[in-house]
Amino acid sequence: MQPEVIVLGAGIIGSSVAAFLAQQGVRVLVLEQDPHPATDLTASSSAARATGGFRVQYGTAINVQLSLLAREILLGFESWTGVNPQYQQYGYLFLASSQTELEALQAALLVQQQMGLSVARAVSPTEIAVLNPALNLQGVVGGTYCPWDGFIRPLEMLRGYQQLAKQYGAEFRFGVQSKLEVLGVRVQVRTATGRLEADAIVNATGAWAGNLGIAIPVTPEKRQIAETVSITALPENMPMSIYCDTGFHLRVRDQKVLLLRPSPVGSSHAFDLEPDQTWLEPMRTEAIARVPILQNIPVHRIWAGLYENSPDKHAIFGQHPDLQNLYLVNGSSGHGTMHSPAFGKLMSELILQGKTSSLDIHALRPSRFLEHDAIQGNSLL
Ligand SMILES: Cc1cc2nc3c(=O)[nH]c(=O)nc-3n(C[C@H](O)[C@H](O)[C@H](O)COP(=O)(O)OP(=O)(O)OC[C@H]3O[C@@H](n4cnc5c(N)ncnc54)[C@H](O)[C@@H]3O)c2cc1C
Repeated sequence: MQPEVIVLGAGIIGSSVAAFLAQQGVRVLVLEQDPHPATDLTASSSAARATGGFRVQYGTAINVQLSLLAREILLGFESWTGVNPQYQQYGYLFLASSQTELEALQAALLVQQQMGLSVARAVSPTEIAVLNPALNLQGVVGGTYCPWDGFIRPLEMLRGYQQLAKQYGAEFRFGVQSKLEVLGVRVQVRTATGRLEADAIVNATGAWAGNLGIAIPVTPEKRQIAETVSITALPENMPMSIYCDTGFHLRVRDQKVLLLRPSPVGSSHAFDLEPDQTWLEPMRTEAIARVPILQNIPVHRIWAGLYENSPDKHAIFGQHPDLQNLYLVNGSSGHGTMHSPAFGKLMSELILQGKTSSLDIHALRPSRFLEHDAIQGNSLL
């Protein structure tokens, strides 16, 4: 098959792009460095290591819009792909411990309302105690809550995208590491077995996006999750609860509590996926202070994964400014799983129509950093 589009990376975004394009009759080839589709923690894909959070509560218009578009697709995901993404609308609770944090949350709420999100709201400590009775609210002055936020199953979504893409003829080749080579104003793909050309080549290689031979401002950041043993003391429908001061957050998945704290972790190299055990104790100390019920609950395992950070922590989306057939969907900065439905749709529109019709993605254009027009985000969201 001579592909019309080559997608580099069979992670959650690359697979979404492949599904949307293949369904419209495009001949798609997906190249993935890992030997198998991601199904567990042995895969490199950050989707295999993600928390499975979904939220519309963001502080910038473009992220709220991406989430609203993603939500629309998620609601029809099962009838579209045949796989249930298990979108559970259990909410996200953002908790402020100072007036400054509360004001930042309120500013975000205003942006969300301007984008048409009417269900997100400010909540008092009394309401927070009802929404999540397990939390220690000492020092908490208020927060925000959105009932459309909640959880998804990244690996199920990945399976759904890949299943649909294959059904429409897309080819997935695993165990193929790719590099990009420039030929004038175009690029081609180089693998161990040869060179490949296509009308469009999509870089969807997550944290590795800047490692293909063409500079893309994406920096891997190691993040870790601790998972407790099974417990019944916290319910599955507990909202994701995030303390804005340290970023500590937690959720329940399959009766186990997932604990996260974005403190620095040791890495032996940029793409190191080995968990740093020294991260655990301070994180657990905070977890017990925030959620006293965790006092005697042992951690069963920890794992690490990579965020794919862009300089302004927003995705880099669009045609490369200098290389005509290179398309970028990179730098989601830790939000790529939830935004993958939107990015697949938008990338298919961009490649097939030369522009996106579902959403104006000008703010995410790859050239914005050179133009000194990076997105001004909200420090908390
Ligand atoms: C601990 C943690 C928690 C997270 N929690 C959430 C969350 O709650 N919600 C959310 O939305 N997001 C979350 N994320 C972020 C999310 O996982 C990523 O944003 C998302 O996976 C990015 O999708 P992607 O397809 O770009 O990258 P990936 O899913 O990482 O896929 C990239 C793929 O490209 C392949 N690849 C790389 N280089 C090459 C190459 N040269 N040739 C061929 N293939 C290559 C990789 O092997 C990989 O399979 C979390 C991430 C981590 C680490």
